[in-house]
Amino acid sequence: MSVMSKIAPRASEMEALKEVLFRPTGVDGVYARTGLYESVVEALAALISSHRPRDAEVLRFPPIMSRAQIERHGYLKSFPNLLGAVSCLCGDERHIRGVVGRFVEGGEPWTDALEAADLVLAPAACYPVYPLAAARGPVPAGGLTYDVAADCFRREPSTDIDRFQSFRMREYVRIGSEAQIQAFRQEWIERATGIADGLGLNYRVDLASDPFFGRGGQIVAQSQIEQALKFELLVPVRSADAPTACMSFNYHQDHFGTTWDLKTADDEVAHTGCVAFGMDRLAVAMFATHGTDIGSWPATVREALRL
Ligand code: AMP
Ligand code: ZN
Repeated sequence: MSVMSKIAPRASEMEALKEVLFRPTGVDGVYARTGLYESVVEALAALISSHRPRDAEVLRFPPIMSRAQIERHGYLKSFPNLLGAVSCLCGDERHIRGVVGRFVEGGEPWTDALEAADLVLAPAACYPVYPLAAARGPVPAGGLTYDVAADCFRREPSTDIDRFQSFRMREYVRIGSEAQIQAFRQEWIERATGIADGLGLNYRVDLASDPFFGRGGQIVAQSQIEQALKFELLVPVRSADAPTACMSFNYHQDHFGTTWDLKTADDEVAHTGCVAFGMDRLAVAMFATHGTDIGSWPATVREALRL
């Protein structure tokens, strides 16, 4: 594993980088992406696809998902502050025209009339996969593997170059016995560090915790660290002291198995785990590390990405 030897770029350089890679949309953490930037996101996606586990089922999810499913997952207990819910103007034409008319003519907030729909914005790519897997019946003895992706939303507005409200997540998800999940995660930590080496990134892999909500959340986060449920691959994008999590390696134990009644062939509750690639953070890390002139990136890196 390489060490974080390079000096991380300073704040002004990050602003300059942001101007090259993105165009503003008027909202912090929501950007139009340039062709230069997208060429690297696409190359990274192809590189990750080339490592797709054999037998993985490919599913691409929309940026919205079932509100009922996310409620059942317990997301509201853990991260209520990050969730975005879809709400719409409901009712007959007269009602809707009235709401819009009072807004246009009198400035009365039309948003007061919004009603929650049966949809939320997907906060991670893997959530919709567990109920789908459960609907297939018992998990086969060899386990199940999925390749999923989605545009994700998290309500964490920021001007930092590595924190978006809307970002792309790619995941390999494994469902099976505890031993299968542990083996999968260990193999992926090794594989992912190999990928990061090939990309010429400085990084370290460390234990991590999710940003659970509130004071009680800190206790949950502590126990997550003690049980080594989450590792992250950290790259010094903005600073070496606060490196950016570009990938995460998660072991959910039997949480999703219990929630969705996912059973193994021997009628045990299935365990699950996932490796998540933050596609936008990986792309930003590439530009922060190697600069904005792709032509001058190390030849081995360009070869790995076929750029
Ligand atoms: P997590 O479920 O928090 O482990 O997220 C999976 C991956 O998504 C992380 O390792 C990051 O690379 C990426 N990610 C999470 N939050 C954000 C964000 N606000 N902006 C960009 N990427 C993110
Ligand atoms: Zn996941």
